[in-house]
Amino acid sequence: MSLKDDFILYNCRVISLDHQIPSANTIVISDSKIRYVGIIDSPQTLCSQGSTSVDCKGAIVIPGINDSHIHLLAQASRIAQSDLSHAKPGDMEAVTKMLKSAIAEKPVSAWIKGHGLDNTFFDDTNFTAQYLDSIFPDNPISISNQTGHAMILNSKALVALDIDDISHSPDGVVERDNSNELTGKFYELNSSVSSSIRAISPSSLFQQNILALNSYLLSNGITSVHDAGYNNNLSKIDTLNKLADSSLTSRISTMIQGEEDTINEFVQSKSLKPFSNLNFNTFKIMLTQTTGQFHPSQTELNDLIILINKHGFIAAIHAVEKEAIKMAITAFANAYQFFKIINRIEHCSEFTSEIRWLMSRTPCAISTQPGFIHFRGDLYSSEGQSVPITDLYPLKRMNSLSPILAFGSDAPVIEANPWKAIHGAVNRTTLSGAMFGSHDQRMTFLEALYCFTVNPAKLEGLNAIKSTISPGKLADILILNKDHIEPKSIEEIKPMMTIVGGKIVWDSKDLTLTFH
Ligand SMILES: [Zn+2]
Repeated sequence: MSLKDDFILYNCRVISLDHQIPSANTIVISDSKIRYVGIIDSPQTLCSQGSTSVDCKGAIVIPGINDSHIHLLAQASRIAQSDLSHAKPGDMEAVTKMLKSAIAEKPVSAWIKGHGLDNTFFDDTNFTAQYLDSIFPDNPISISNQTGHAMILNSKALVALDIDDISHSPDGVVERDNSNELTGKFYELNSSVSSSIRAISPSSLFQQNILALNSYLLSNGITSVHDAGYNNNLSKIDTLNKLADSSLTSRISTMIQGEEDTINEFVQSKSLKPFSNLNFNTFKIMLTQTTGQFHPSQTELNDLIILINKHGFIAAIHAVEKEAIKMAITAFANAYQFFKIINRIEHCSEFTSEIRWLMSRTPCAISTQPGFIHFRGDLYSSEGQSVPITDLYPLKRMNSLSPILAFGSDAPVIEANPWKAIHGAVNRTTLSGAMFGSHDQRMTFLEALYCFTVNPAKLEGLNAIKSTISPGKLADILILNKDHIEPKSIEEIKPMMTIVGGKIVWDSKDLTLTFH
């Protein structure tokens, strides 16, 4: 074969996730696809014929990660903000350091935002706009507290917002000192201050956020995402479609959220495939509970699933607690007898014996987030739950009962870090190191990896073209910073290189590239 224009990865330990390719040390990529994967004794001779080759030096190579539940636009606006939640009460030095590093990455005089600051800072009368000015005179700065109820701005930000406009707001408190000067602190006004900031921020800010989101995803090895939106209507989908066309490298599938009207409007519009680079096959329904009543009701839910499946689409129901999950399975069971479509439950956190019994009778896909075990496990254990901890995210049971168990992050609720999530699935340890639930629900690394690659692609209906390292499939590939996997060090995994469609789209500069 001629390798003139090919891209070759050699000296690697390939985890292909393709049962027909149990081991390999060389991958040949032509254009956007994998052309060959197998064992070659002296790949160097092969490499001299290719246009680009990478010596992986024994590193593990896997298919790209597919995050099956992420809120892309919300994550984009969160990512541009500095997370100040790790600063200890009163540790202004730490806050200064974090904000200074954010400023260093931004254009001169860019708006700097922080969130998650401990409430004690807001109780301190010395923590004012003037204090922030003494450290940050050149950039407008806004910082919100942990609960999102309080915010502080420096003088640049106050001037930029012409803040007197909202100083008489009946909804919240604009704090003034004894001489009637603004202290920069606002209470219960975060959303109105934030929207004022958005109104004066140039559209280039949105573009900056999207660029930051793009490198965040790629540096974490996320080459595909399923956007779960918040209120994904047709205009938001239009924005996503443009991003998929121009700014985001990771492949995007999306869900449209809505009820009967939205679904009808969409399925009746002539163009059922209006998107160029955006994959769409799922409608999402929020199943919410107010004063004990679920909305939509069981009957309405049954009808909605029928409507969605009748048009050949998959339904995804947001259901966290057991009552909601039961309703979702009931509606799926009702539609399954007619359409044989496997619908999905988002989160499905409470997996009780009753749910397991129902699911054993109706096939349901599950998109869940093992990152919650790691990031929130301590909180769940301390809070007291309506179900035993052993019924929360029992991943082995989920995997054996559900025909398709897919993992996602739910970012920005928690980090979109698949390695922490896999760590949660494999070790079931929390941030404090405690075991969450039962030992016997620990997955193997490979089981967890399938849930982050092959299974999400099945939900998108795209597993025939991506998600394993097999000849003919899209070359979405990660070179990891490990030459073997040990459960205890999974959270240290990082991609050294991310390849999407045969192109190197992110690179930690730790590998030696050999160009011929
Ligand atoms: Zn979500």
